[in-house]
Amino acid sequence: MHAKYVGIPQQPIELPSGAQLQTFAAVMGTNLHQRPGLAVVSGLHGNECNGVAICHQMIRLLSDMPPHAFEGRVIIVPAANPLSLGLGQRLWPVGGLNVDFNRIFPGDKAGDAVERLASELLDLLLGLSMCVDIHSGCTELDLLPHCRTYPWRIPQGERRQMADAIAGKADLLNLPVLEWRDRRMDASSRATLAEVLLERGTPAVVIEGGTTFTLDDEFCRQCVSGLLSLMIGEGILDADIAQDRMPVTGGYTPLSVLSSEIRPVLAPHGGLFRRRSEERANELTLGMWVDEGMELGTLSWPIDAQQKVEDKIAVTSAGHLLALRRMPIVAADDVLALVCTEGDWRRRITVLE
Ligand SMILES: [Zn+2]
Repeated sequence: MHAKYVGIPQQPIELPSGAQLQTFAAVMGTNLHQRPGLAVVSGLHGNECNGVAICHQMIRLLSDMPPHAFEGRVIIVPAANPLSLGLGQRLWPVGGLNVDFNRIFPGDKAGDAVERLASELLDLLLGLSMCVDIHSGCTELDLLPHCRTYPWRIPQGERRQMADAIAGKADLLNLPVLEWRDRRMDASSRATLAEVLLERGTPAVVIEGGTTFTLDDEFCRQCVSGLLSLMIGEGILDADIAQDRMPVTGGYTPLSVLSSEIRPVLAPHGGLFRRRSEERANELTLGMWVDEGMELGTLSWPIDAQQKVEDKIAVTSAGHLLALRRMPIVAADDVLALVCTEGDWRRRITVLE
């Protein structure tokens, strides 16, 4: 089925330079105005390309399917922030304001170009049965791919029901971790796309994995398969036709963790971090259970005239290893690893109520 391309906004915005700003959504499905509807968005940060590749692969796969494979609609926005993507930089490049496009939602139709684009994108996504916003991890850490949502943003009366629904949808995405942001991260009324969607009654999750500036093929494959599995689960895509095109794995229950219970292992001083896996292959893998006191690596002072002996860096409290430092040069208090045990999100949502 050929995708129909819709301009966001419908008419391009003229920038101060005279250049025209507009991005596009690929829309597919049998009934464009009826639920269920799934949106996949990427490229809110211009230095993250995994999501763009995932969206392109989704468009290719879905375009190859016959119209009768669809029982709902799909909206795919590969390049939500085309200006930053064009430059390969995280922030919005116009105006010298260092605006993070994913911190200004809901945007403002009467505002400047970045505000208008945010507002138009939000309008396109509100009211769908699910929105998935794809991001890449940071360059410093190897991160277990995860799905994240913000239950405190959901209006109180709907919180439990929507959180339960999101947990079910996240299972279908087949990622190893589901993170519940169980506390407010900043006091501003401006927020991320997923947070504002949740506030306004649209179920939304963020997927994060791989690294900025790189294409992580395994993560991309995992996401495409997970998104197809979600589309089948949502009743949007015919299972048999989808399985013919790509193997869709399903029924994976992710580790459910609370943000407030993720514990960092911090660098006690600056230096050169060498992870243990580099010395003894395959002994540390993301997702594995690590006991308190288990060695993660060593930290030495390569730039210090005293040439002090290296320190052992160990797990400070037992749990699953969610992230491990990749970049060796660290400053004091940099994160070397993240560890977490499974959290009782249902109880925490009751506390939030
Ligand atoms: Zn991002």
